Amino acid sequence: PVVTRFAPSPTGYLHIGGARTALFNWLYARHTGGQMLLRIEDTDRQRSTDEATAAILEGLSWLGLACDGEPVSQFARAARHREIAEELVARGEAYHCYCSPEELTAMREKARAEGLPPRYDGTWRDRDPAEAPAGIKPVIRIKAPLDGETVVEDRVQGTVRFPNKDLDDFIILRSDGSPTYMHAVVVDDHDMGITHIIRGDDHLTNAARQTIIYKAMGWDVPVMAHIPLIHGADGAKLSKRHGALGVDAYRALGYLPSALRNYLARLGWSHGDDEIMSDADMIRWFDIADVNKGAARFDFQKLEALNGVHMRQMDDQALFDALLQTLPFLDGGSALLEKLDDQRKKQLRAALPGLKERAKTLVELADNAHFLFDARPLVPDDKAAALLDADARQLLAELAAILQNVGDWTLANIEDAVRAFAQQTDRKLGKVAQPLRAALTGRTTSPGIFDVLSVLGREESVARIRDQAS
Ligand code: GLU
Repeated sequence: PVVTRFAPSPTGYLHIGGARTALFNWLYARHTGGQMLLRIEDTDRQRSTDEATAAILEGLSWLGLACDGEPVSQFARAARHREIAEELVARGEAYHCYCSPEELTAMREKARAEGLPPRYDGTWRDRDPAEAPAGIKPVIRIKAPLDGETVVEDRVQGTVRFPNKDLDDFIILRSDGSPTYMHAVVVDDHDMGITHIIRGDDHLTNAARQTIIYKAMGWDVPVMAHIPLIHGADGAKLSKRHGALGVDAYRALGYLPSALRNYLARLGWSHGDDEIMSDADMIRWFDIADVNKGAARFDFQKLEALNGVHMRQMDDQALFDALLQTLPFLDGGSALLEKLDDQRKKQLRAALPGLKERAKTLVELADNAHFLFDARPLVPDDKAAALLDADARQLLAELAAILQNVGDWTLANIEDAVRAFAQQTDRKLGKVAQPLRAALTGRTTSPGIFDVLSVLGREESVARIRDQAS
C-alpha cells in the first residue's frame, strides 16, 4: 500500500507552496487507498518553534487535510539517526572525519581558486582512524561513490542523472552527534515505511544525496516525485505580493477550504479541461503521472472566481456555518460577530441565498451583509446619498405608508405591493428600487430589494425608509 508523507520544517506558518505539497500527498494517498503521514522536521533547534508546529497543524486542519496517525517529531528520533550513522561506519559505507575548521576552510579556498564548487577532498576517507588527533570530535561522512553517476528516476522530472564527481562525501552526523537533514530524512522515510516522496523540486539534488544513503544501507529507494514550484502570475518566483502567504492569510481573505483545495490541485496538475472539482473528483482523478513539469503560476483572480463558484454550489446551511466559523478571522469580522444576536443570526441566515449570489469571498459576503447590522439612522454612502434627492424622499414617504399596510410580510406580498406602486405611479421598477435600496442599506448595491425588505422585517424596513423620507 502507498504511504506518502508531508514533512514541513516548523520555522514559520504553513505557506501556500507547502499546502500544495501536502495536498498532492493527501490526494495521492486517498486516490490509492493508502496513507499520508506527517513528520515535523524540527531537527534545527534554533529555527524550530512550537508556535510554528501549531500553526502548521492548524493550517492543515483548516484546509481539511487530515493526516493518518500521530505526527512524528524528527528531533525525537535523534538516537535512531545516530545509530544508523554508526551502522554505516561499521559497514564501511561511512567514516569519521577529524578535519579541523581551518583545514576545511583551506579546502574550500583551494577549490574556489581552481574555479570548482566547494567540496570535501576525502582526507579521512581511507585514513587510519588510529591517526585521529586527540581532542577533536569527529563528524561522520558518507563514502559517496567516486565515479559513475547517481540516477534519480523521478515520476515528474523523468530520469535525472547526477555525475558522482559532483557529489562529495557529505556529513551525515555532526560532531555533537546530531544528524544532518540529509541523513535524518532518509532514516525517517525508511522507518516510516514511506513508499512515495512527493515534494518541491527544490529538493531534487537532495534526492541524489539521499539515494546514496539508501544504497549504502541496502534500503529500497522510495518512488520520487519532485513537483514544480509555484510562481507568481508574472512568472517570477512566488513572493508575498504574488500570494506567498500562510494559509491563515487565505482564510482571512475569505476563501473556502474547498475552493483553495480545488485551486491548489490545479496548480501543476490537471485533468482534461476540468476546473471545478469536488474532493471526490480530485481523489478519483489525481495521479502523479499528470503532474506538469513546468512551474505553475499563482493567479488570485482565478482563485477568487473559483471561490465564488464553490460558495454558490455549497449548501446554504454549510456556507452559513463556514461563515460563522470564519468571522473571527475576517477583517472587521469580530465586530460583526459581537452584533450577531439570535435575531440577526436568523436574518443573516435568511439573507444568505441572496448574498451568496453576489459575493466571491466570505469577506465580500460579510461586507454585503452589513446592512443587517447597521444601527438606525443609517448613514448612506456618497453614491446612495446622491440618489436620495427631494423626489426620492417624497417617493419613500409614500412607499413607507404602503409597506406599513401590506398584509402578511411575505416575499410575494412585498413584491406585489412595490410593483403595484411602481405601476400606479408610472415608474419603472428600478426607479423605485434604487432609492429604496439606498434607504434600506445605505448603499447602491445589495441583494435583491425584495429579499432585503423581507429579511429586515416590516418594522425595521419602514423605520429605515422613514428615516430617509421627507
Ligand atoms: N523539511 C523539508 C522542507 O520543509 C522537506 C523535506 C522533504 O520533504 O524531504 O522543505
